[in-house]
Amino acid sequence: MLKGKTALVTGSTSGIGLGIAKALARQGANIVLNGFGDVDGPKAQVEAFGVKSAYHGADMSKPGEIEEMMKFAAGEFGRVDILVNNAGIQHVAPVEDFAPEKWDQVIAINLSSAFHTTRLALPAMKKANWGRIINVASVHGLVASVQKSAYVASKHAIVGFTKVVALENATTGITCNAICPGWVLTPLVQKQVDAKAAALKLSNEEATKQLLGEKEPSMQFTTPEELGELAVFFCSDAAKNVRGVAWNMDGGWAAQ
Ligand code: NAD
Repeated sequence: MLKGKTALVTGSTSGIGLGIAKALARQGANIVLNGFGDVDGPKAQVEAFGVKSAYHGADMSKPGEIEEMMKFAAGEFGRVDILVNNAGIQHVAPVEDFAPEKWDQVIAINLSSAFHTTRLALPAMKKANWGRIINVASVHGLVASVQKSAYVASKHAIVGFTKVVALENATTGITCNAICPGWVLTPLVQKQVDAKAAALKLSNEEATKQLLGEKEPSMQFTTPEELGELAVFFCSDAAKNVRGVAWNMDGGWAAQ
C-alpha cells in the first residue's frame, strides 16, 4: 500500500515509534529512523520487510539538528511523504517541585519538535499534493493526571496543533491526525512501574496491576503493533478525509 513512499518516524529506535516504523515498512514504505541508543537492531527490523532505511540521530530538543535531519531525509529519499512525530519523554513531579529545565525539555521534545518537523515537511508534501502527518500524542492529550504538568500540557497542545495543521491543509491531499494511546508497556512506562514498585514495596507484577487498575478499564496494555496498524489506517486512501482527529486507543481510559 505504501510502496515508493518515505516515512520519517521520530524516536523510532524503541517502543511505539519502532512499532509504527515496522508497520509502515510492512506496507512497503522506506523508513528514516531517529532516536537514541541501538540503531543496528531497529534498522534490521524494518529492513526485514524488504524496504530501505536510513538513520539520523538528531536530538529533538534542538531545532538546528531537526533541520539537518529533514534535509538528510530529503537527500536520501527525495521527500518525506509520511511524518510521524513520536519522540517523547516523561517527567513526574508536583508543579511546585517541577524543575524548570525539565519543563523546557518536555515541551521542546514532545511539542516544539513536531512544529519544526511539520513546517519543514509541508512544502514538499504540498508540491506532491499528498502527505500524512501523524502526531503521537497520548490519552494525556485528552485528560489529565497528577504530577505530569509538562507532559499533559505538551500532549493537549499537540492535539491543538494537529487540528490547526489539518485545517490549514483541509483542501489538499495532506492530512494530519493524532494518536492517543493509554498505557503501552515501553521503557517510558516501565520506569513508572519501577518507581511504583520501589515506592510501595511491590513486585513488578503487583505494581503493573496497580498502574493499569488506576486508569485503564481493560486492564490491558495497548501494543506498539496495534498503534502501528492505526498509523497504517491513517496513511490509507480510506482515511483521506479523516482530518484533525485525536483517536484514543486506551482500553476505555478516556471514556470514564
Ligand atoms: P520510549 O522511551 O520507548 O521511546 C522514546 C523514543 O524517543 C526513543 O526512540 C528515544 O530514543 C527517543 N527520544 C527520546 N528523547 C529524544 C530526543 N531528545 N531526540 C530524539 N529522540 C528522542 O517511549 P514510548 O513509550 O515508545 O513513547 C513514544 C511516544 O508515545 C512518546 O511521545 C510518548 O509520550 C507517547 N506515549 C507513550 C505511552 C506509553 O504508555 N508508553 C502512552 C501514550 C503516549
